[in-house]
Amino acid sequence: MDSGLSITAEKLIEITARLASKINVKDEEIERLVGLSSKNIAKNASQKVAFWLVEQKESLLYCKLCGKGPFTKKGLYLHLTRLHKEEIKGMLMEELKNEIKALI
Ligand SMILES: [Zn+2]
Repeated sequence: MDSGLSITAEKLIEITARLASKINVKDEEIERLVGLSSKNIAKNASQKVAFWLVEQKESLLYCKLCGKGPFTKKGLYLHLTRLHKEEIKGMLMEELKNEIKALI
């Protein structure tokens, strides 16, 4: 169970970084990564975590985890995936657990 969660979180790091960077993510991509049955859980968790990763001031994007910026969309995406991968994964695991708990 926990290792499954870890694998799912790992798969969602990139999607979450893209959501945070305001780069378009299609539902089908999430479905392809985690399967139809986990799609909604994965989507909710990614959106919640993405909200905690970015601070938007006017049209500028800043990293909420370390305060660096401003970044372009692509710049923030690269920053998040290079520097905060493990933190994002940990946050995703927590949110996935919450989403699963809410279903039971
Ligand atoms: Zn940062």
